[in-house]
Amino acid sequence: MLYDNFETNAIRIQAEQTDFREHSVPLYLTSSFTFEDAEQGRALFADEVAGNIYTRFSNPNNTELIEKLCHLEGTEDGIATASGMAAMFVSMAAFLQSGDHIVASRSVFGSTHQILTMILPKWGITHTYVDIAEPEKWESAIKANTKMIFVETPSNPALDVIDLAWLGKLAKKYKVILNVDNCFATPYLQNPAKYGADIVTHSATKFIDGQGRTIGGAILGSKELIKQVRFFARHTGPSMSPFNAWVLSKSLETLAVRMERHCENALKLATYLETLDSVSMVKYPFLASHPQYELAKSQMRHGGGVVTFELKGGIEQGKKFLNALKMCSLTANLGDSRTTVTHSASTTHSKLKEEERQAVGITAGLVRVSVGLEHIDDIIADISQAIQASL
Ligand SMILES: *Cc1c(COP(=O)(O)O)cnc(C)c1O
Repeated sequence: MLYDNFETNAIRIQAEQTDFREHSVPLYLTSSFTFEDAEQGRALFADEVAGNIYTRFSNPNNTELIEKLCHLEGTEDGIATASGMAAMFVSMAAFLQSGDHIVASRSVFGSTHQILTMILPKWGITHTYVDIAEPEKWESAIKANTKMIFVETPSNPALDVIDLAWLGKLAKKYKVILNVDNCFATPYLQNPAKYGADIVTHSATKFIDGQGRTIGGAILGSKELIKQVRFFARHTGPSMSPFNAWVLSKSLETLAVRMERHCENALKLATYLETLDSVSMVKYPFLASHPQYELAKSQMRHGGGVVTFELKGGIEQGKKFLNALKMCSLTANLGDSRTTVTHSASTTHSKLKEEERQAVGITAGLVRVSVGLEHIDDIIADISQAIQASL
């Protein structure tokens, strides 16, 4: 850490100033970098000296973003990827080979589910899903060929929370790589590496961007593990655009203040929804009614910016509710300054079979709200009038 506090590091870690003495870090839109002479070119390619060669390998904007993220997550090294899904795929593909096995929490992002069930099996990489609610099943799911445990906590959209300290010990015991998708918590609310995660993955598209402008991802971990990831990424090319890295690095400067307000608003909305007779279920990690409330309190700073709920009238009432919203945006994205509302079963998780959705707690009427930074009274007013209109 350069400074003792998250906020300061998120703002003050930056690429070195150029001779122009710019205050805001410039955008390095260049595909390649020149060599001082033939010898330096040789030394750079031979990894004898550090430096930029080609933007697919590295770029000052990407390096700045990664340095910041490493400080904020407590990891040694990392790479920035073109999307969150590139981060998920590369963080698996870089370490696994034909015959290997992954143990994963059943409740994962829709596209991660597609990677595990439809894409990795093409190369003979198999998986076993385990329920977050059944910790005793995790150990027995680990086989001789298991190389990785992959989890999302809190999960999208079920908001299940898994005990990272316990999982960290389990991964150490069996010498498998623990890979945690920390997208919902962000480095501000939770640092999986502190609990023994070997790899921390992010979709930076969500709260890290915070204003719904860019797509991006990151893979963070020890120098040794990231060396393998960097080799894989350098030669397969899932690198982040420097423009997106520049935007995301600036976004990190405000992550702490934004997350404070996202979480404050989300808790207020969740508490309000619990008082309504027309709502059959509300889930939020920092509500006492959440099944892993105590655990969430112990490993997260706040409960996050996402609340899910179900209307008593199921899917039909859910549709009426969505169509009656006046301010909140109907969109699949989350982590935006604008409150966004999604019906998971018909959008982000529509490619799953009905039984698969049921197994991960995505009921037909489940509504996911990513609570934005508008005034909480306006958010509650819009959601409340839309629920009234759906009755
Ligand atoms: C959105 C999301 C992803 C995928 O990220 P993209 O940036 O959209 O590729 C992965 N994991 C979680 C938990 C997500 O919410």
